[in-house]
Amino acid sequence: MFSAFLIKYAEIGVKGKNRYLFEEALVKQVKYALKRCEGEFCVTRTPGRIYVEALSEFDFDETVDNLKTVFGISGICPVVHVEDEGFEKLGESIVKYMDEVYPDKNITFKVQARRARKNYPLNSMELNVELGGVLLDAFPELKVDVHQPDVLLNVEIREKIYIYSETIPGPGGMPVGSNGKAMLLLSGGIDSPVAGYMVAKRGVKIDAVYFHAPPYTSDRAKQKVVDLAKQVSRYTGPIYLHVINFTDIQLYIYDKCPHDELTIIMRRYMMKIAEKIAKDTECLALITGESIGQVASQTVQSLAVTNEVCTLPVFRPLIGFDKMEIVDVSEKIGTYETSILPYEDCCTIFVAKHPVTKPNLNIIKRHEQNLEEKIDELVQAALDTDEVIVVNYER
Ligand code: ATP
Ligand code: MG
Repeated sequence: MFSAFLIKYAEIGVKGKNRYLFEEALVKQVKYALKRCEGEFCVTRTPGRIYVEALSEFDFDETVDNLKTVFGISGICPVVHVEDEGFEKLGESIVKYMDEVYPDKNITFKVQARRARKNYPLNSMELNVELGGVLLDAFPELKVDVHQPDVLLNVEIREKIYIYSETIPGPGGMPVGSNGKAMLLLSGGIDSPVAGYMVAKRGVKIDAVYFHAPPYTSDRAKQKVVDLAKQVSRYTGPIYLHVINFTDIQLYIYDKCPHDELTIIMRRYMMKIAEKIAKDTECLALITGESIGQVASQTVQSLAVTNEVCTLPVFRPLIGFDKMEIVDVSEKIGTYETSILPYEDCCTIFVAKHPVTKPNLNIIKRHEQNLEEKIDELVQAALDTDEVIVVNYER
């Protein structure tokens, strides 16, 4: 029955040039989501609204599910299109619509007509009254309520006539691409994919970096990160995933620094390298999955010491979340099952039995001096291993 969708978005703060960027980004993301749906669609934009029109057979549920991944959409209204074949035919179409969409007629309604084409013989007020009358004749149980109707039946007179009344909630947020780009430090865990999702929801495009430590971390561990990036890219659009070989740096730190400081020093080098790649790829911030107190390397002291190496802002959207809250989101976005696969990650292999929980920046810096001889060379060598994998969500 439905052959189109009216896409609604929250317009707050979207004015002037921003509005154009916002709509442009939204259209692009809508097209990206529709690419994985069966059928052909045409996406058009008129001020304040976006229409998705099916040009072929399509799967309603699949299409709605995919539109629900597009940040910036506040509501998805399924629309019925009918040809303009006179008022009587329109009345019949409205009756049929009500009958199919609302089998239970013990409801109140209001017709809200809009005459976008001014040569239509009836004006909006007349249409409201006349169509209301037709519906009451067809279904005597219906009642009109002009203030708080259960069903607001929209009838728009354009080239064709559009009928819609239902709004399926969208994910909210801002369309990806409307708010710059950031570099996500993506590990194989539960947290970082959720962190990327949350920042993308604010309209930020995401690139990612993964620190791989072969042979201590296996190809399966790397594939797991690629799979996670793929699931996140369902929401974010294509992700450029940088895979950096971190083994030599890790071994060098292991060799030269106290083992209880290994994790924190390693994290500082990860941030440094991530920031370098970020700056080379027009990313304006870093994103991590850190949350206060979750593990030894995420005490406030540790976070401060890690942060000290960065000049870019570091976004930590999970900072105040409990693990359960993070797990809830990861289940919702479909990354949980992959995240809990048991493959080793590079932090777990070299981790000390009792890592420092309250690192002192001066002491850490002093111990990092042990690395002076070779670390710059190793960082450059690691950057040279950068393997870029373009990750896309396709059906
Ligand atoms: P996650 O669930 O995201 O793995 P975690 O609870 O295991 O997080 P840590 O291991 O302390 O926490 O890592 C903190 C953050 O550092 C991660 O959320 C991620 O952003 C980043 N990170 C850790 N290891 C890597 C890695 N191998 N490659 C890229 N980023 C990493
Ligand atoms: Mg981890």
